[in-house]
Amino acid sequence: MTGIRLFNTRTRTKEDFVPIDPANVRMYVCGPTVYDRAHLGNARPVVVFDTLFRLLRHVFGADHVTYVRNFTDVDDKINDKAAQTGRPIRDITDETIGWYHADMDALGALRPTHEPRATDYIAQMIAMNETLIQRGHAYAAEGHVLFDVRSFPDYGRLSGRSVDDMIAGARVEVAPFKRDPMDFVLWKPSSDDHPGWDSPWGKGRPGWHIECSAMSFDLLGPAFDIHAGGIDLQFPHHENEIAQSCCAHPGSGFARYWLHNEMLQVEGKKMSKSLGNFFTVRDLLEQGYPGEVIRFVQLSTHYSRPMDWTAAKAEQAEATLRKWRDLIAGVEPSVPSASVVAALADDLNTAGAIAELHRLASEGDRAGLAGSAALLGLLEPSLGAWAEIAGPDAAVSDLIAQLLAARAEARVAKDFARADKLRDGFAAAGVVVKDTAAGAEWTLAPGFDADKLKGLL
Ligand code: AMP
Ligand code: ZN
Repeated sequence: MTGIRLFNTRTRTKEDFVPIDPANVRMYVCGPTVYDRAHLGNARPVVVFDTLFRLLRHVFGADHVTYVRNFTDVDDKINDKAAQTGRPIRDITDETIGWYHADMDALGALRPTHEPRATDYIAQMIAMNETLIQRGHAYAAEGHVLFDVRSFPDYGRLSGRSVDDMIAGARVEVAPFKRDPMDFVLWKPSSDDHPGWDSPWGKGRPGWHIECSAMSFDLLGPAFDIHAGGIDLQFPHHENEIAQSCCAHPGSGFARYWLHNEMLQVEGKKMSKSLGNFFTVRDLLEQGYPGEVIRFVQLSTHYSRPMDWTAAKAEQAEATLRKWRDLIAGVEPSVPSASVVAALADDLNTAGAIAELHRLASEGDRAGLAGSAALLGLLEPSLGAWAEIAGPDAAVSDLIAQLLAARAEARVAKDFARADKLRDGFAAAGVVVKDTAAGAEWTLAPGFDADKLKGLL
């Protein structure tokens, strides 16, 4: 079996990936807060961890990997949007989830096994808060429940800081009901104009972090293999998830391997809604960038490095994909090449895997190229419509016109053997010919292979 190695941000070393149960490899990725279209930065963890999902399925078997990615559908940004627009929250979150699916599908991302919505797990969050209070890791105060960070000695281990450093370095919210400035909110009171649920602490809503602890526990159990998300989530979100989950389920260890993607940047700054320097995936799709091209550009840089989106990279990706699509037209994909699997297994070296695809293309290993590209979610028929819309080049169009003229001549000359040979040749190459009153019309079927036309003249 292929040995996978992953850089575990928790231990800061590249480690052999050994799943707890190879028959059920489990991964949790923090998903979007659903109040607006996903921007290109939000797509980075989706594409990166989709590629990891594909690799895990390849190595352990498609039925032996469980991938959970949540929707955060309770959040003050959503409440603000509801207040601004006068629309019901559920309308906003349903619409945004629909957009998210459409946009991430366009990037060739497989749907995770489970996509839980936070609001479907309120009862589990309340139960976890109660457990944390009972175990002495949380306390209720003024309608809030707070996690007591001093009760968890490992707090700060993931991000490599001590609680005292964090207090010195961070802008922490000082509230009179907090025992320590670093204590964070598990539950907070809701007034009537905010969404709220009944709880032992009054009507309220969850703090952000508890949802991932509750959903991962419910769907993956107290201990699972991989937890991933953007590096911006390492602190405080992931630090807080670890504190909550490890204290609620002592001895479980929670997630074994932590993976963090670096940020997509615009002129050296993180792309983010709050900085306003963002464009959405939908913007790019509408400008005519195929989803497959966006995916290719994202995979060209290793996930652990910051990356920029540039039009030049997209143009080059488009030319490469177009060339490769022509090359593999009509080819039955083989199993992925060992060199591509090895690159991905080496901490998801997607840039190295793409370099191997170039090698396979230059060596003319068309079946290997098709099969290996599929492991990266590239060159799959479902993503290829863009390459066909552009149509064949002028030389191919000329050739088809000449062949149609030859067929018409053969018919006039009653050379039916020749006419049938041309008809069969078109079918084999993937040219669909329709005879109309105005003459013959043709279109190209998926998998069109220009080479098969060449011997026909
Ligand atoms: P959010 O909806 O802001 O919670 O973000 C959803 C996911 O996108 C999280 O995994 C973030 O870490 C990730 N993310 C946000 N901005 C960027 C960015 N500029 N580059 C890469 N990932 C990002
Ligand atoms: Zn999370």
